[in-house]
Amino acid sequence: MSNVESTKYRCRPCGYVYDPEKGVPEYGIEPGIKFEDLPDDWVCPKCAASRWMFEKVE
Ligand SMILES: [Zn+2]
Repeated sequence: MSNVESTKYRCRPCGYVYDPEKGVPEYGIEPGIKFEDLPDDWVCPKCAASRWMFEKVE
């Protein structure tokens, strides 16, 4: 059974993977924040793609 809290999302343009267990501390995203709970204006830290460009990593 998968844990929703640890669902990763991959940026389709650049391949960056958002891992909620790690967050993005250097960008002010603390560990433990679900992808769904990121701010609406959050963008990929690597290529600045919008959130909708990300896909769930199965
Ligand atoms: Zn990206």
